[in-house]
Amino acid sequence: MSNRFEDKVVIITGAGSGLGQASALQVAKEGAKLSLVDLNNEGLEKTKKLILESVPNADLLLITADVSKEEDVKNYVKQTVDKFGKIDGFFNNAGIEGKQNLTEDYGSDEFSKVVSINLNGVFYGMKYVLEIMKNQGFGSIVNTASVGGIRGVGNQSGYAASKHGVVGLTRNSGIEYGQFGVSIKAIAPGAIMTPMVEGSLKQMNPDNWEEVGKQFVEPNPMKRFGKPEEVGYLVAFLLSDQANFINATVIPIDGGQSYKY
Ligand code: NAD
Repeated sequence: MSNRFEDKVVIITGAGSGLGQASALQVAKEGAKLSLVDLNNEGLEKTKKLILESVPNADLLLITADVSKEEDVKNYVKQTVDKFGKIDGFFNNAGIEGKQNLTEDYGSDEFSKVVSINLNGVFYGMKYVLEIMKNQGFGSIVNTASVGGIRGVGNQSGYAASKHGVVGLTRNSGIEYGQFGVSIKAIAPGAIMTPMVEGSLKQMNPDNWEEVGKQFVEPNPMKRFGKPEEVGYLVAFLLSDQANFINATVIPIDGGQSYKY
């Protein structure tokens, strides 16, 4: 097994489910000490159990926090540095889809909620982690955007605005911090089968969501959903020293979806 993360410290937000959980497992298998952050404490406990099953001596810090609250973000960064002394990698990943609706019906409160988690949360994370990484002179940040951050999807005003914002932040800050040895990239996942996507399919058709899922991936060049562990492999690479020269850019992981439609 690769040991790219031996003696490395990684923070992962949204670590209690889906892409965050799969990425946490992957970097833990490669030796990372981890700060696992999520709003949902039960999810964090599940991730911890999953990691300890394959890495019994994993060094884990579990932090319940709401990424849309700046004080919570400041606190998870401080707790990580207090315990581990540094931050090598940061997977800035927590996010929600929000309700699907036409722009005129989307709702201002829903828009604010989605943007405050998906965009403000990512900004706060970068703000506090970058301060540490700049002083260290090293570090890698991977922000979770989406195919919805590089093209139009429809019925997702808040999601599209927030994920395009994540791409903008990534490009902007990558240019600022490259000179300090810190690289910042975003991933743009297509449809990966996680609880979030299951919820999205259920919004489209609660009674027959599995069938809706089959139709949904039909136009995808690979005709399937992605798997969380496939994103985990990409995130682990991007957080590792091997990917230091990949900076201020967005990497799609979508089976080719963003180029097809
Ligand atoms: P998920 O729902 O399985 O996991 C998201 C996790 O984030 C959950 O554990 C949830 O509790 C946590 N979370 C939500 N709001 C939070 C908050 N305010 N503070 C802290 N934690 C919070 O979803 P996922 O599919 O793993 O999504 C992870 C990220 O990937 C999101 O940013 C999502 O937009 C993005 N994404 C997912 C897909 C996909 O197909 N699954 C595609 C593109 C982008």
